[in-house]
Amino acid sequence: MVGGTGKKKVVPITSPLPIVEVNPNNHKDVVTIEAPIITSYNDRIRPLLDTVDRLRNLNVMREGIQLPTIVVVGDQSSGKSSVLESLAGISLPRGQGICTRVPLVMRLQRSSSPEPEIWLEYSDKVVPTDEEHIAEAICAATDVIAGSGKGVSDAPLTLHVKKVGVPDLTMVDLPGITRVPVNGQPENIYEQISGMIMKYIEPNESIILNVLSATVDFTTCESIRMSRQVDKTGERTLAVVTKADMAPEGLLQKVTADDVSIGLGYVCVRNRIGEETYEEARTQEELLFRTHPMLSLIDDDIVGIPVLAHKLMLIQAMMIARCLPEIVRKINQKMETAVLELSKLPMVMASSGEALMALMDIIGSAKESLLRILIQGDFSEYPGDQKMHCTARLADMLSQFSDNLQAKPKENVTEFLMDEIKILEECKCVGLPNFIPRSAFLAILSQHVDDIQVKPVEFIKKIWDYIEVVLSSVITKYSDNLPQIQSSIKRAGRNLISKIKEQSVERVIQIVEMEKLTDYTCNPEYMTTWTQKTSEQQSFIAAVLNNGINKSEQFSLTGFGNVKISHLRRYHDHLLQQAFDMKMRITSYWTIVLRRIVDNIALYLQLSVKYLVNSQFQKEIVAEMVDPRAGGGIERMLEESPSVASKREKLKNSIKLLKESKDAVTAIVDQNSGYGDR
Ligand code: GDP
Ligand code: MG
Repeated sequence: MVGGTGKKKVVPITSPLPIVEVNPNNHKDVVTIEAPIITSYNDRIRPLLDTVDRLRNLNVMREGIQLPTIVVVGDQSSGKSSVLESLAGISLPRGQGICTRVPLVMRLQRSSSPEPEIWLEYSDKVVPTDEEHIAEAICAATDVIAGSGKGVSDAPLTLHVKKVGVPDLTMVDLPGITRVPVNGQPENIYEQISGMIMKYIEPNESIILNVLSATVDFTTCESIRMSRQVDKTGERTLAVVTKADMAPEGLLQKVTADDVSIGLGYVCVRNRIGEETYEEARTQEELLFRTHPMLSLIDDDIVGIPVLAHKLMLIQAMMIARCLPEIVRKINQKMETAVLELSKLPMVMASSGEALMALMDIIGSAKESLLRILIQGDFSEYPGDQKMHCTARLADMLSQFSDNLQAKPKENVTEFLMDEIKILEECKCVGLPNFIPRSAFLAILSQHVDDIQVKPVEFIKKIWDYIEVVLSSVITKYSDNLPQIQSSIKRAGRNLISKIKEQSVERVIQIVEMEKLTDYTCNPEYMTTWTQKTSEQQSFIAAVLNNGINKSEQFSLTGFGNVKISHLRRYHDHLLQQAFDMKMRITSYWTIVLRRIVDNIALYLQLSVKYLVNSQFQKEIVAEMVDPRAGGGIERMLEESPSVASKREKLKNSIKLLKESKDAVTAIVDQNSGYGDR
């Protein structure tokens, strides 16, 4: 653990830690003599800091990634700004009333150049300044950000100090907490300021530097109350006790008792008073803690600004090492999201060649998908969407059609054999009575066919309506990031389906018509059933012709049930025999015809689906896209709406930034793995 209040002298204050030295030419210059501990710090920790600085420069905070930050909090006039200026060796606005009104991010960076570089950054402005004018520049910038009154704002102001001898630290100075609004301050000033402080100290990545004045009772400090809300055990809180010179009595007791649980320990300091130079202030501080009867009792390793600087650097480095793995995780996560979002944006093409390639890609992918769902029965792409499980849905529809077609029409039992008799009477010719004229058979067959003709046509239309829906889903899915041409591709899809539908209907009508033309089958089942059915002929005719007292109204016929026969008594027996025979032939044959229609349509359907997927689909879309009358589809792929363009630009920048950040961080994490466990 860094710090602690043990009596062991880890860093004697006389040893040249970041101690200040007078430059005889310019009293305001501060230089550091590098002690061995600093060198080791530089070797091991400097790269970590550089990484975080790089991330800060890259502005990863903008991507919602928190970086380890030292946040300075304290009640009003506790000496926050004084501590910061002691650390930085510069003058900050100081004094009575509320001076710090916006979050001031102080980035101290050691440099080897003798010329200090100091500049302010706020709301996209960069304002160079120098040591003499820092205070004025900060006040002016604060006025711009928060208005010239006494109001506060949470838009940050960044002060960069690149200078010889400053510790490598990034800290945020926040407005002091005021309970009671002073003249000109808004009524809710307390809520505003405490809200702002909370926002900065809440993230686990923040180190809370709690500035306490030695003159007050620590337990009554508002800043203590607030930091304990977000860091109960104080594991990321360090206390700086200022104004040691003003209240030396009991200070030792106060910091050793630790009534307010400060996990990272205390450092007592004496800041610059009045018009002292920094050097004078450090000399006085050193003198004070070495010679004062009460203050000299306090352990040397918890007094003085150099000790504070050193501790802060170590704590900061430790915190950075601890946070880096999480930062890497967040960067990866943000990057994945951004990449995904970018991939969903409409594509934009640089040339018509590229556009054509993209189009072919889309067609290719859509075709593959159609092949899988319509032909191969592979639904891995749409596991939960039954509608897209096409081979199964087509089979369902086909079997439904088959059942529907073969369902026995309700036989008109009261008119049994009458159709056959009527037809036979019209096909009479001069000849032997026990021949059935072929024309009569074809006539009855044709009648049967006419009765079912609409069903196959309706079925094939329904099939293509369904395939159209599927096709449209697939097209939408694959052309979603090319909205410029999506409607053209969809139109091509619709045109294609309507063409194929028309062809199919014609073809189905043909399949049905064929059955009217010829009565033929090689299926032996025809003869078997006909033989079975005609075996009842004699008993049937006998029952009809029975003129006795027991003549019955009905006859029970296998496959037909109870049929009425009384109306047949007035016909000649040879006509009845012919009619019966014909009825049995047509019944046996019709079963075969219906099955043949179903089979034919099924095979034809498979053929045309395959034809659609394998060749027509691609042809139709390409034709539509190159057709100048359709508005030059390919050319439209080269256009992009401004809103999409700006979104793309943003995402690209974001990804670039995250990638750079990732590279910066992973390099350091690999080198330092194990750091964060300390
Ligand atoms: P802030 O409001 O917390 O930023 O406090 P400032 O840094 O503005 O300090 C408030 C007042 O306390 C100023 O007049 C400082 O000069 C004075 N002050 C700060 N630190 C010390 C110190 O260590 N000793 C003495 N004597 N005065 C100090
Ligand atoms: Mg201040």
